[in-house]
Amino acid sequence: MLKKLTQFYYPETIEEACKYLGKKGEKTAVVAGGTSEALRQDNSIEALVDISRVKELNYIRKDSSIYRIGATTPIQDIYKCSDLKGPSGEILKYTAGKIGSTLLRNSITAGGNLAAIFPWSDLPPVYLALDAEVVLRKGKPKRTVPVENLINERPNKFLGENEIIAEIAVPVYGKGTGTSFVKFAKTANDYSMITVATRVTLKSGKIEQARIALNAVTISPVRIKDAEKILEGQKPTSDLIAEAAAKTAEKAEIRKDFRASKEYKREVLEVLVRRSLEEALEMAKK
Ligand SMILES: Cc1cc2nc3c(=O)[nH]c(=O)nc-3n(C[C@H](O)[C@H](O)[C@H](O)COP(=O)(O)OP(=O)(O)OC[C@H]3O[C@@H](n4cnc5c(N)ncnc54)[C@H](O)[C@@H]3O)c2cc1C
Repeated sequence: MLKKLTQFYYPETIEEACKYLGKKGEKTAVVAGGTSEALRQDNSIEALVDISRVKELNYIRKDSSIYRIGATTPIQDIYKCSDLKGPSGEILKYTAGKIGSTLLRNSITAGGNLAAIFPWSDLPPVYLALDAEVVLRKGKPKRTVPVENLINERPNKFLGENEIIAEIAVPVYGKGTGTSFVKFAKTANDYSMITVATRVTLKSGKIEQARIALNAVTISPVRIKDAEKILEGQKPTSDLIAEAAAKTAEKAEIRKDFRASKEYKREVLEVLVRRSLEEALEMAKK
């Protein structure tokens, strides 16, 4: 409950938004889609800065080898975007379509989905698998950092006082790369129990780069680098994939969850990672 909330700001530019966030003597916070407002822990907030009307934050575009997604872009726009293609575009669209209902997807924003980071957040592990970067703005000044740094340090600690997520920058991968997203939940609309996002990039018949990212089964999005190392530099074989999947299940710090036991989730995780890597490899070989 935001018992101290007395003020709502509706900035129209990034600079205006950051100015409100940095206002002295007032405890402020950003609101974008507002879908996680009920879960906000900090009851001392006095003012909310609604960035959903900042037009310069709402876009999806391709700049040479990067897909650029503005922070207030609704998830539904990602799902429906016909310009998103290839190994990066396909996984972004597919994953967006797996988030909640149409109603929710029209509200949830790309930036909010990354800033809030819940175990059930679907796009953050995809960003990890794609080696995405995030553009942060503090008024005019901006910095670009790997999404992995933001996630590992938690966005609420990583972001400066009047700093916002402005854009997610996703590398465009071409031929030789395959991606896969697997969400394991009790029903199509339920929160995920196990989320797996993988990418493999082949070069001269060998796996040049491998990414295995998880969420839901873990407390927050994470890459399993020990398993990725098993794949990199090797020829892709069934045994190698099975070994990487087993290592992922061994290394993942499985989250306690009332839906299923840790033992069950570990077994299912191994199968899902194997299938996901197989799917990514199939795409990479096309
Ligand atoms: C019933 C339900 C089911 C859901 N199911 C799923 C699901 O299956 N998969 C999934 O991925 N998500 C799901 N979500 C959405 C998820 O739980 C979050 O609510 C959502 O990702 C938050 O996005 P938002 O745009 O609404 O952010 P908000 O709720 O507006 O903000 C979330 C947090 O991020 C901060 N913030 C927002 N934007 C920025 C920015 N640009 N820069 C800095 N800080 C910012 C806010 O201050 C706040 O702390 C579900 C939500 C609901 C209500």
